[in-house]
Amino acid sequence: MAFKLPDLPYDYDALQPHIDKRTMKIHHGKHHAGYTNKLNAAIAGTDLEKKSIEDILKKVSNHGNAVRNNGGGFYNHSLFWKVMSPDGGGEPNPRTKLGKAMKDAFGEFEKFKAEFAKAAGTRFGSGWAWLCVNRRGKLFVTSTPNQDNPLMDVADKKGTPILGLDVWEHAYYLKYQNKRPDYVEAFFNVINWDEVGKRYNAATK
Ligand code: MN
Repeated sequence: MAFKLPDLPYDYDALQPHIDKRTMKIHHGKHHAGYTNKLNAAIAGTDLEKKSIEDILKKVSNHGNAVRNNGGGFYNHSLFWKVMSPDGGGEPNPRTKLGKAMKDAFGEFEKFKAEFAKAAGTRFGSGWAWLCVNRRGKLFVTSTPNQDNPLMDVADKKGTPILGLDVWEHAYYLKYQNKRPDYVEAFFNVINWDEVGKRYNAATK
């Protein structure tokens, strides 16, 4: 079974003005499609064709760079589209499991925001910033290079990602050029906390 490029859960222009239509169109239709096609080519005819993307990534060091880069690219962007919404922004509901866990891990929301923005801003070159859950259900912020992610056995800090931000230049350059911090700030206006909460609940079940 080949992996399939997921449809966006909203229109290409839905996240404007925070993320522009042209960036979304190229990012989903070219970049994400490219990772998907190259992942399928890399696993064609191998037993990885029968595995879930999560299972592949958890033992990614057993496979070549094509699986690491394109498998990561496939998974990361699939998560990224879902954790954004035109109705997003604000803060997680403090009465939810996620809201309580956020308070426990970071204190005030602004502290989380500062830590996440720092992880996104200081990731040199291309990569991702993440909010993750560890094995004890505790939240932490981390970042990874290239298309790596915290599910991978090669990650410095391992956990289940529930929120991710793409900080490759292809994610923001058309609108924000070199101003990555402005893009990171804008991202907070579109975060779909309901979806992040669902992922937190699934990861801690
Ligand atoms: Mn990307």
